Amino acid sequence: MLHNDKLEQWDRENFFHPSTHLAEFARGNVPHRVITGGTGCHIEDRDGNRLLDAFAGLYCVNVGYGRSDIADAISDQAKELAYYHSYVGHGTEASITLAKMVLDRAPDHMSKVYFGLSGSDANETNIKLIWYYNNILGRPKKKKIISRWRGYHGSGLMTGSLTGLELFHNKFDLPLAQVLHTEAPYYFRREDQSQSEEQFVAHCVAALEETIAREGADTIAAFIGEPVLGTGGIVPPPAGYWPAIQAVLDKHDILLVADEVVTGFGRLGSMFGADHFGLKPDLITIAKGLTSAYAPLSGSIVSDKMWSVLEKGTDENGPIGHGWTYSAHPIGAAAGVANLKLIDELNLVENAGTVGAYLNKTMTEALGAHANVGDIRGEGMMCAVEFVADKDSRTFFDAADKIGPQIAVKLLEQDNVIARAMPQGDILGFAPPFCLTREEADQVVAATVRAVATVLP
Ligand code: PMP
Repeated sequence: MLHNDKLEQWDRENFFHPSTHLAEFARGNVPHRVITGGTGCHIEDRDGNRLLDAFAGLYCVNVGYGRSDIADAISDQAKELAYYHSYVGHGTEASITLAKMVLDRAPDHMSKVYFGLSGSDANETNIKLIWYYNNILGRPKKKKIISRWRGYHGSGLMTGSLTGLELFHNKFDLPLAQVLHTEAPYYFRREDQSQSEEQFVAHCVAALEETIAREGADTIAAFIGEPVLGTGGIVPPPAGYWPAIQAVLDKHDILLVADEVVTGFGRLGSMFGADHFGLKPDLITIAKGLTSAYAPLSGSIVSDKMWSVLEKGTDENGPIGHGWTYSAHPIGAAAGVANLKLIDELNLVENAGTVGAYLNKTMTEALGAHANVGDIRGEGMMCAVEFVADKDSRTFFDAADKIGPQIAVKLLEQDNVIARAMPQGDILGFAPPFCLTREEADQVVAATVRAVATVLP
């Protein structure tokens, strides 16, 4: 419990909150919330409320809150050696051990891991490595990156451009010119509702082929995608989508970046989405689940194929001109080592798969027949409920009605359950910690049923 009665005033006067309506926050119309503690799937706020966090923070606290093993590893590392850099061959026991643990878990064809701090900077690193790679190969024109509408890859200049959500472009002069967007594999929102899943996959593939033909394969360096679309609406791809996309990329010598910031280290019930969908990425982006957010740390896992070219590049040009002061920060690395050990010891990848399937099944049984529920979908420990004004005609609500956000507010007010109103469409997202129990999944479903009944009686 906190006792500073000025905290709200200080917050509204001084703190620039990310992804927040700044004017409404200043006016007091966006609640000021102070979170003070957490254990397992629950957090507590300053008023003593205990909330079931069915979004694991921002789908990142994968092992759950209050893990003393990770806290102790952080504390031990900070006392022993809080910092040393990793430039010019330097390292720490924690960073070297974590690199080995990441590669042991990654698909066999991956070679090395570069550590950053956030998912955004890891994707910035990826794009630079892709450009460097094509320059070393003598293909200076092959630089454009294809992303998908509704993809989320960060909010930097390049990564905000890759993100396929208008909110992240508007008034920021994004996307940058080297970025192209193609169709999202969003079956429920397909334009031609008469298409079967198979036909829709063929349509997505044709859209990609068209973009490549229009721009010229010699100008396109890479395709980036989340194995399961996350922030864009929690959308698993239709069957056959990834193998079909991979075949097109291979044919045109276009690299694949699997952005596994959300899916990496178990969220789908497999260690990586690449394993889950049989992908062969050239780069894998990791962040959130690497430390379960106990410390900021991200990474770019580089394939054998790219690594050999990067090495050649340094023989030709000298040391690679890329690095952050905090790359492979020892405290983050120590958190990562303890986190990955805990995931193994507690069998959390398997739990994410089985309890996640249970959550998806019970959510579908409870709400599938509701007149305003158009779609319930998920994979592993990810689940989304999408609301519609009319089910038969698949008419969506007016965005101004804020149906999704209203339901999320009711979940919290009525039952102390946190879900996320996804930013584009009336979509309620769930991505709990992997330690969620079946009883907790039941609570989440029951609370959702009540919240939906309140907003859409
Ligand atoms: N990629 C994906 C798939 C993400 O979901 C996110 C964050 N939600 C990012 C990249 C960016 O990560 P960060 O917010 O740590 O920069």
